[in-house]
Amino acid sequence: MRFLAWLVLAILVIYVMRKKMIAAMRPPPSPPAQAQRSVEGESMVSCAHCGIYIPASEALSGPHDQLYCSSEHRALHVSS
Ligand SMILES: [Zn+2]
Repeated sequence: MRFLAWLVLAILVIYVMRKKMIAAMRPPPSPPAQAQRSVEGESMVSCAHCGIYIPASEALSGPHDQLYCSSEHRALHVSS
């Protein structure tokens, strides 16, 4: 009967040690992924007239899918 008690104790110790080893081998939890950034880098486009780079949201579209920094440059480029 004493043997059985020791056997159970040994199995318990092995079980606990295995659990600890698995926990130690597991990589630490990574910090929250920064995939969902609040501010995404906005794509820049160049003005077809002067070549200056402006955010795509501020660009003015003209004929032939060209983009301009201002309505003046759009008018100048279209008339020229
Ligand atoms: Zn321009």
